[in-house]
Amino acid sequence: MHYISTNNFFRLLDALKFNYKVYIPVKKGEQRFYKKYTGPQDDIVIGEVRAFEPLKAFFAQAREVVAENFSDDIPHADDKPFAIVGVKACDLKGFKVQDHVFKDHDYKDPFYLKNREQNLIISTDCTSVIDTCFCLALGIKPYPQEDFDINLSEVKGGFVVEEGSEKGKGLVKKYSSLFQEAANVIINKRKAQRARIVEKVEENIKENKVPREDLYKGIIEKNYEADIWPEEAKECVECGACNAICPTCHCFLLYDQKDRKKMERLRIWDSCMLKSFARVAGGANPRPKLWMRLRNRFEKKFDFFPKVADVYACTGCGRCVSACPAKIDIRKVLTRLVENA
Ligand code: SF4
Ligand code: SF4
Repeated sequence: MHYISTNNFFRLLDALKFNYKVYIPVKKGEQRFYKKYTGPQDDIVIGEVRAFEPLKAFFAQAREVVAENFSDDIPHADDKPFAIVGVKACDLKGFKVQDHVFKDHDYKDPFYLKNREQNLIISTDCTSVIDTCFCLALGIKPYPQEDFDINLSEVKGGFVVEEGSEKGKGLVKKYSSLFQEAANVIINKRKAQRARIVEKVEENIKENKVPREDLYKGIIEKNYEADIWPEEAKECVECGACNAICPTCHCFLLYDQKDRKKMERLRIWDSCMLKSFARVAGGANPRPKLWMRLRNRFEKKFDFFPKVADVYACTGCGRCVSACPAKIDIRKVLTRLVENA
């Protein structure tokens, strides 16, 4: 394992700017948002907790051109890839679902494949916890264990660096003058810090009475006709924020647009909470009621994905809890489903 001082880390980012569009979280109020890195500045937060935006935004963008003028050429194929700094474990876990949909299943999405291959992920341990974090209930530790190129664990004056891929190893080798071997005393500090954060997330889970993943089996099937769905959907305003903000939600809509110069096909994120989502030609809709769409969202996350990809399509990031204007809390819905099963 290596160590890099904070100053050297910023030197590394400055060097990465030549080959990547580097994005880093900055703090605004109580939130952290990704911003294009231009140089060291005071509001950068590399540790703390997950950013407001989900990681998926760098792999299948909210709105992107996927074809131009009926050509097979991939638009923007030569764009610089992203280097994303400060990615947390709950976002990385989202790859288990996104990869299944866009990479490892029947269809291979060329945009996603390119981004997965070329983007650089510099992840970090969580160094604090917010009330909505419940990753451990889904078996996810609050520090990255896979799917990163290099991981940083913040320690005084710098970071412990772990390499997680060949790309990450290559990076450390290329800029070896910026790194040094991590001393045992620093590695032990990382261990103690990780244990402290695990304890805090456990407290959160206990306080909010969030059931653990081993209790989720069959909860949708057993509650399929339960009143829980209409009761929980009562205040929903059908905004779709819960889908947009979620690191595992992946549904999209294609549409065409024409201006004077060219024809374009665009892909935008879609939301299964919206009435038009499942409507078919002729106007029929298999999920006309809002509560049916809420049930479908949970069914996909806690029944469909465990069956087809052996993973719950929820990472415990808590984003949908904060984003929902109707205060529909996935942790409370899970508690009700488990208790009623
Ligand atoms: S369902 Fe909610 S808590 Fe779970 S991963 Fe999606 S946004 Fe995060
Ligand atoms: S964020 Fe809340 S109000 Fe908006 S669609 Fe989702 S559940 Fe409904």
